[in-house]
Amino acid sequence: KDFIKALDVDKTYKVGEIEIEALKKMSFSIDEGELVVIVGPSGAGKTTLLNLLGGMDTLTRGSLIVDDKDLRDLNSRKLTLYRRTDVGFVFQFYNLMPNLTALENIELAIEVTKDALDAKEMLHKVGLKDRMHNFPSQLSGGEQQRVSIARALAKNPKLVLCDEPTGALDYVTGKSILGLLSDVARVDHKTVVIVTHNSALKDMADKVIYVKNGTVEHMVKNDRPLDIS
Ligand code: ADP
Ligand code: ADP
Repeated sequence: KDFIKALDVDKTYKVGEIEIEALKKMSFSIDEGELVVIVGPSGAGKTTLLNLLGGMDTLTRGSLIVDDKDLRDLNSRKLTLYRRTDVGFVFQFYNLMPNLTALENIELAIEVTKDALDAKEMLHKVGLKDRMHNFPSQLSGGEQQRVSIARALAKNPKLVLCDEPTGALDYVTGKSILGLLSDVARVDHKTVVIVTHNSALKDMADKVIYVKNGTVEHMVKNDRPLDIS
């Protein structure tokens, strides 16, 4: 059974009189626990798709089902709840609060989450137990991204969405972050969807979705993904 099912998804932005078709009849499906990479040229619709999956925006036409919830049917209150409890987010520039420690950043994020996991345990999991009282400015880029992964996992979501998670990191640090994200799928059995330009990721993904002009150009399923960690 599909964990995510997109069927003929359209997303149109209205800018004054002009309509911009960011997504056009986009269809795909993703299994539970899959590690999926979305690639494609700039302007292809990758961020738009991630925003729809994360409940940050709503689709114009079609249907988008995540874990048996049709996101089109959710009113804004339910969509907020979905965003807070069902989805973990990892961003390119970490999005940590600079005036809070690593631990406090996670505690803040799960304040509104019902079944949150232990913040300290999550930092331990990403290898940052000794750094929990450090502020973001005291941590390297890779360490800040680990905090943001711990923050995403602390919500105990079934779905983790990542927008260019290695985009601001050097190659070696990026690889260790990818290893961590691969564990999130393989060990924790979460569904992980990553938008990236990092081609190393394509080899370790279960599925690569190539997006172009707002639609799925083609899709590749890897039988035996490489473990790069
Ligand atoms: P990608 O992430 O693949 O670079 P985007 O999803 O950001 O692509 O953009 C897809 C298309 O939608 C582009 O033509 C972009 O200009 C347009 N677009 C994205 N966000 C908005 C918005 N908020 N308002 C108007 N047009 C937008
Ligand atoms: P990178 O080469 O990954 O950017 P840095 O050279 O910035 O890393 O930092 C190397 C190590 O020193 C990291 O473990 C980082 O957490 C630590 N570090 C850097 N700046 C500080 C600081 N102001 N206080 C405490 N630790 C720091």
